[in-house]
Amino acid sequence: MSETTLVEGARDPRNAVLNEIIPAGEPWVGTVCRGEVFRIVDLEGNQAVDTLFFNAANTAERYSACDTVRSQGNIYLTTGTQLVSNEGNVMLTIVADTCGRHDTLGGACSAESNTVRYAHDRRHMHSCRDNFLLGMARSGIGLTKRDLPANINFFMNVPVTPAGGLEFADGISAPGRYVEMQAEMDVIVLISNCPQLNNPCNAYNPTPVRVLVWAAA
Ligand SMILES: [Zn+2]
Repeated sequence: MSETTLVEGARDPRNAVLNEIIPAGEPWVGTVCRGEVFRIVDLEGNQAVDTLFFNAANTAERYSACDTVRSQGNIYLTTGTQLVSNEGNVMLTIVADTCGRHDTLGGACSAESNTVRYAHDRRHMHSCRDNFLLGMARSGIGLTKRDLPANINFFMNVPVTPAGGLEFADGISAPGRYVEMQAEMDVIVLISNCPQLNNPCNAYNPTPVRVLVWAAA
């Protein structure tokens, strides 16, 4: 991590036009308009925030992990990363990051993965996939499970070994660390504040996060 540069945001939370807490383990849906700045704060540290973005004007266009990785030639997301859609357009640009590294390879937890990775009796535990579906249903944005692409895991540490292996490792985030991005188009944000209890992505203890939006400059 020594090569990572941490970049602080210049904005004052007192000037935010939106300032909300997402409770531990819960979904959240919001809209961020072009030019606005969106910040997610890891309030207590080591909390994975599974996130998807959709073009608000055409939800068939959505965040694409593979186009984002290919576009920047790097698998980790941090300051300077352009979050690219399945149509090759930049949806948001990460403009500040005090954590230093975010994952977009590890995917979202689900009832199915809970049984495969852990045990059959974990099937009914809350999962990000269920949260995404609940958020879609509650918000009436007209999306269903066929609209779930590979997501971003903000604050989650998934190092890739020299042999190409993936590992869900102890987090590198800490209380108060945040990531901030400027919207390059109007986007719908769909978040699962990960309820996972079986791996270290949440330090086995899901916690609340804060989301803020600042108006366009
Ligand atoms: Zn999860």
